[in-house]
Amino acid sequence: MAKLSPRHAVVNREICVACGTCVDVCPMEAMQIVQGSFASPLEEKCVGCGMCAKECPASAIKVEVRS
Ligand code: SF4
Ligand code: SF4
Repeated sequence: MAKLSPRHAVVNREICVACGTCVDVCPMEAMQIVQGSFASPLEEKCVGCGMCAKECPASAIKVEVRS
């Protein structure tokens, strides 16, 4: 199994407006829009780079250390 990166993106689903910006900017193709209503990163692909968090217009994403 591939090793997960130490940091990852976490989406606040209450704030996310499903605009898709994070999907477009993610260099790892790790972000997906689920059921047309919120973004969710694929844990095995996300490297915690923070590009999505920087570009999210709703400030719905934080990069956190994996627990
Ligand atoms: S950029 Fe932000 S608001 Fe847009 S889909 Fe991603 S998490 Fe949601
Ligand atoms: S932190 Fe980086 S790799 Fe992870 S979902 Fe956001 S843009 Fe993609």
